[in-house]
Amino acid sequence: MYSLDDTIAAISTPIGQGGIGIVRLSGPDALAIVRRLFLPARDGPSEEIESHRLYYGHIIAPQAGRVIDEVLLSYMRAPHTYTRQDVVEINAHGGIAPLREILSLCLEAGARLAHEGEFTLRAFLNGRIDLAQAEAVLDIITARTESALRIAVQQLGGHLSRRTHEIRSRLMDVLAYLEASIDFPEDEIPPRQVDQDLGWAEGELADLLRQADHGLIYRQGVRVAIVGRPNVGKSSLLNILLRTERAIVTPIPGTTRDTLEETIALEGIPFVLVDTAGISETEDTIERLSVERSRTSLQRADLALVVVDGSQPPTEADYQVGELAAARPAIVVVNKSDLPSVSNCAELLPAAPHIAISALTGAGIPDLEALLVETVFSGSITLSDEPLVSNPRHRELLRRAREQVVEAQGACPRLDRGLPSDLVAIDVTEAVNVLGEITGETASEDLLERIFANFCVGK
Ligand code: GDP
Repeated sequence: MYSLDDTIAAISTPIGQGGIGIVRLSGPDALAIVRRLFLPARDGPSEEIESHRLYYGHIIAPQAGRVIDEVLLSYMRAPHTYTRQDVVEINAHGGIAPLREILSLCLEAGARLAHEGEFTLRAFLNGRIDLAQAEAVLDIITARTESALRIAVQQLGGHLSRRTHEIRSRLMDVLAYLEASIDFPEDEIPPRQVDQDLGWAEGELADLLRQADHGLIYRQGVRVAIVGRPNVGKSSLLNILLRTERAIVTPIPGTTRDTLEETIALEGIPFVLVDTAGISETEDTIERLSVERSRTSLQRADLALVVVDGSQPPTEADYQVGELAAARPAIVVVNKSDLPSVSNCAELLPAAPHIAISALTGAGIPDLEALLVETVFSGSITLSDEPLVSNPRHRELLRRAREQVVEAQGACPRLDRGLPSDLVAIDVTEAVNVLGEITGETASEDLLERIFANFCVGK
């Protein structure tokens, strides 16, 4: 289904106006196709095009003889290329018209339009990178913070793949041993401490899974609901949190009609602030409505900022919002610390940390930011530990592999009693297969299709 024999082409830079734009080709005819369109500036059309060098010239529509654009062309001969095939990149002027025209000339000259992610897919199918590394390419493109980027680059470098491979190959050794003892029960097979192998594998998988919890936070962010009754300062708090991080804010459209979402990064962790404020308050907006809205924005939140007005005694609505937030980690934000304090809200979510701030003056905001980070990690990991796993697909596979190893451990006593080892072997086989799905050794075509469909054309 995935042909590697033809030559694919696509615009590899984002569509729009830019300084440069690149049309990329990969496949056996890449150079031949481009030679039909490219006129080198220096020595005329006969000039030899060498690998890994840059050539200046023009793209000419062969039939009309018309100059399309002034370009720099690079040819990279297989196998030292992104796809391990011959690759040609045409650096043209960024802009929709020249790039489209160059692409369609390439297609007329024999190339086929690439599918989503097909360049990276070829790199995978040709064995240059494994599946986890291919997925890292996508993570690099979509990384929202520096930490998410570092984790993705590490994954592209093969760190996760190597760890997974190590665990998988030790389990394969176990499997070979078990199968030999099933097939040749009479023979003298040197004994192997299978329970030790399994114990080691379980420990490794548990460690990777622990990292995955933090890795996923870096990748997906923490959803923070800012809740409270009207006029306590929710919008003001949102605005001041956004202002301090203005440079790295990425707007995300709200997922429901009733909420706004904005992302800030603190210590490399994306915090998605979900806010019900800013929604036009109608005249019949009453406190009951604000409780309902708090309920809405709390629905998918990982963490709640319960905002109260410290210059007023807490009201029934404050307590109601507090109750709604009680099911998840929460911080009580006592706002308006610039005004005389009359509020005693110690009884509002007494187990949650309380912090006094002023959204007007900015007092206490750095402490609140530090508290947000602390609450997420709850002291369990230092931030300098960069997790190897940040992809939900990998986490799920690691979880399943660990489950199988634990099952195998449970069946181990059978071995000591001299019973057939097939039950252990079944579990270990399953674990080996599941781990193979991380790196792609045992990935189905379906899975590949699903993964590469998330890429853009040209990548
Ligand atoms: P929301 O309805 O909870 O989103 O509240 P707003 O952010 O709209 O704030 C309500 C009112 O309180 C506005 O007039 C703000 O200027 C004011 N306000 C917000 N934060 C503070 C603060 O820290 N100190 C003072 N003095 N006023 C504040």
